Amino acid sequence: MSRTERQQYLEGGLADLVCESCAALVRVRKSSPRQTSVQWSTAAVRQCATELGALVPTCPGLRASIDQAVRAGRLDVA
Ligand SMILES: [Zn+2]
Repeated sequence: MSRTERQQYLEGGLADLVCESCAALVRVRKSSPRQTSVQWSTAAVRQCATELGALVPTCPGLRASIDQAVRAGRLDVA
């Protein structure tokens, strides 16, 4: 990832989050309580045990991890 890209991620409010069930490191941005953007890196896609579908890759464990991070105040809803 280039420096510029990283800056954009930070400015876009993306936070690093590790899936508790598969330990994949993804970037998450919560734009509202019900809207979550997840940015999957190639490594995270390989790591996650869930088969990733076409449009929206999801992992049940990751979803729970995101909810937990929000509750714990580790992930800002912005
Ligand atoms: Zn996962």
